[in-house]
Amino acid sequence: MTNKTESSDHFKHFCGVAGIISDYEVNIPEMLFYPLFALQHRGQESCGISYKRHGRVTTYKHLGMVSSVLSHYLKEQHPSFLGIGHVRYSTHGGNKLENAQPVFASTNKGEIALAHNGNISNSEAIRTRLMDEGSIVQSTSDTELMLHLIARSRKKDIVDALVETFNQCEGAYSLVIMHEDTLIAVRDPHGFRPLVYGKKDGMTAFTSETCALDVLDIPFVRELEPGEMMLRNRSGSTTVQFAKSTRKSQCMFELIYFSRPDSFHFGVSVHQARKKLGELIAEAEDIDCDIVCPVPDSGNIAAIGYSVAAGKPFDLGLTRNHYTGRTFIQPIPEQREFNVRMKLHPIAAAIKGKKVMLIDDSLVRGTTSQTIVKMLRDAGAKEIHLRLSSPEIKSPCYFGIDIPTREELISNRLTPSQIASHIGADSVRFLGIDSLKRCVSNPGDFCYSCFTGSYPFDIKDPAKRRKN
Ligand code: SF4
Repeated sequence: MTNKTESSDHFKHFCGVAGIISDYEVNIPEMLFYPLFALQHRGQESCGISYKRHGRVTTYKHLGMVSSVLSHYLKEQHPSFLGIGHVRYSTHGGNKLENAQPVFASTNKGEIALAHNGNISNSEAIRTRLMDEGSIVQSTSDTELMLHLIARSRKKDIVDALVETFNQCEGAYSLVIMHEDTLIAVRDPHGFRPLVYGKKDGMTAFTSETCALDVLDIPFVRELEPGEMMLRNRSGSTTVQFAKSTRKSQCMFELIYFSRPDSFHFGVSVHQARKKLGELIAEAEDIDCDIVCPVPDSGNIAAIGYSVAAGKPFDLGLTRNHYTGRTFIQPIPEQREFNVRMKLHPIAAAIKGKKVMLIDDSLVRGTTSQTIVKMLRDAGAKEIHLRLSSPEIKSPCYFGIDIPTREELISNRLTPSQIASHIGADSVRFLGIDSLKRCVSNPGDFCYSCFTGSYPFDIKDPAKRRKN
């Protein structure tokens, strides 16, 4: 499982969601704990659940990881039929309890709890309009805005109100919604973020990734289609295709890095896609290395693919401490090298005197790579060649991923050979975008905007991204 902390030089995901409905009473809070724990890599700042019991909705959310915030539910009994949950990552100043999810409100359409993975790219325009019209907005998250739109809709029927809301929202939203006794799951018309569902013995679960179904031993049925809304209650399930078909823009970075490797979505196994990326890097290689080493864990699977395709031995030149909690992680530049050293350490016996092909998934600021290369060099590596299983990242994401500013992105300032000099490597190469497209059989169904700067639609609020 990939673990993204502030010490890593990686993109940050905003969220993961889960929703469960059962034909018979089960301990829903306990059942939500496990999929949220499995989705922890999608957000580590806060988490929460909403569940319905005796006709009342209870919401509990707090800052912190699932294992600390929600573990008390493992010892308690709250038999119920329905619940949703959320894990959230936040950035600068956004790490506040009021932004934690699910969000809940009593509205003229009944009680609604909502959990969201994604980012509404026109949220500023919506926020301004709502506030001009007198709405009191309490958080900086897009999700609250969606709740306002649902509540303010003049449509009486919840499905009509939701469709009206979605017609006003642009961007990425994979949602689980609890409305009265119904669980509703929604995927935006572009399908930026994954959303899957599974069924077992009268129970239906919707989760961001299949790894969260697996932990409950609930068999995967299928992904929700882009623009699909599925409603499930004790009378059965219905599906509404609420948006006209549009070009799919599934996030390529879910396959490159974000999703857990044991998950399956966008029609592919994440593990297989990453292995293929490694093979594709090896295909264009002209440097003869002694060993292929991943930057653990983000480069592990691509390194295996590279090693097999290149016929070069795979070895672990770096070991990773998996117990680096957040306590001592201080994201200030002076501590960066120390933080990397707390997490990764070279294995001199594996790399001394060797030409090392170092594989990682992406280069954002280049700061972590600089420290890693120095550590490998100090431990005796003869040559270090860094290969990235993604193209150069040059543009922001408006669809649910926190990417630094254009100025901070190293590929906007330096060419690959300049990056090599900057980080102290013998060479640096990125996977070409044409090669990247070959890791899936349906490349036209994916988003590549952070590489190309070309977006699936006109972004109306480019300067003011909001985090969910
Ligand atoms: S811009 Fe990049 S990170 Fe954002 S959805 Fe597209 S591929 Fe994913």
